[in-house]
Amino acid sequence: MIRKVFTAIAVLLLITACSGQKDLQKQKPVIFVSIPSQAYFLEKLAGERFQIEIMVRAGESPATYEPRPRQVQKLSEARFFFTVGVPFEEAWVPRLKSRFPSLSVVDTTAGIRKRAVETAHDIFPKDKKHEEGHGHGLKDPHVWLSPRLAKQMVKNIAEALIQDDPEKASSYKERRDTLLYELTLLQKEIRVILDEGEPQPFAVFHPSWGYFCDEFGLVQIPIEIAGREPAPREMTSLVALLRSKGVKSVIIQKEFSAHAAKAIAKALEADVILLEPLGRDYPELLREAARAVSKRGAP
Ligand SMILES: [Zn+2]
Repeated sequence: MIRKVFTAIAVLLLITACSGQKDLQKQKPVIFVSIPSQAYFLEKLAGERFQIEIMVRAGESPATYEPRPRQVQKLSEARFFFTVGVPFEEAWVPRLKSRFPSLSVVDTTAGIRKRAVETAHDIFPKDKKHEEGHGHGLKDPHVWLSPRLAKQMVKNIAEALIQDDPEKASSYKERRDTLLYELTLLQKEIRVILDEGEPQPFAVFHPSWGYFCDEFGLVQIPIEIAGREPAPREMTSLVALLRSKGVKSVIIQKEFSAHAAKAIAKALEADVILLEPLGRDYPELLREAARAVSKRGAP
């Protein structure tokens, strides 16, 4: 009997503790971001002041994403939505703006010049039918994978937070500068990994690493053709091309089929490496990428 009473009290306490915590969470203003790397930056800039919600997570596609009803509901009480220029935003941002006029929509990539994405057209220049290219359209959306550009994103995010709450400006500026310094250290770390590892051009199913390549002088060669796996005839010429470039690693990500990538890796005796551009741990993701492309070639 006593035991039962204790259990009942314990359960009650647990319930109170949980709901108390929930209330506390509720009091914090909500910030939405499109992808996990933005959440990484925001947590460093304002983590304890806001509840940070991520739209698209690893394994989901930022090209075709549809916000869940729960997310749309939550957006109604959100202070900010920080966008990053991934395709699903194109359809959703105008809708959300008109539905929630008090929501501040901030383009995290403001001031960044977007590069063109590599397409099969670069590989098969004479073949007209490949010209449609990439599911994203022509501009490469994967800006956050260059730490140099990530710094601009951090500055943009900090600026929006400061404008929203000028009283906390000095605290935001301090955190911004700390984070920028961390990113500078990360850039140096990546250069060390690459210098020691003699990086090679690499194959990647979906060409997410263009800005990373631009910053560090690397070359990615996409496997997908207009968003799909290459046909057998295309595979043959692709394998020949990749062999001639000395490709030693083939990068895949969870949300795309690995079938062609694995077949290509087998033909080249190259390594297959899984990288998640939508991973939460930003510095570790970029270190992994640097290691992935800097395997020394066969002796
Ligand atoms: Zn993509």
